[in-house]
Amino acid sequence: MAKTVTKVWVDTDNCTSCEACVASAPDVFEMKGDVAAVKAEAKDAAFLQAHSDEIIAAAGDCPCEAIKFEAK
Ligand code: SF4
Repeated sequence: MAKTVTKVWVDTDNCTSCEACVASAPDVFEMKGDVAAVKAEAKDAAFLQAHSDEIIAAAGDCPCEAIKFEAK
């Protein structure tokens, strides 16, 4: 069964501003200044559940391992 993301955040110390996550998951991530950030609506459980696949994919594609998440 697919995992459900329960929390996602960006380790801004590791983010190199490549914007890959914003390109692949624009509903979830946005740039705030020089670093990626999780959009405010992505704190909602139902939103996270609906976007779990793309969050996990974005975390895997981040070249700096800056996208962190918890899943169940
Ligand atoms: S993919 Fe990773 S390094 Fe690139 S902007 Fe997003 S969090 Fe930052």
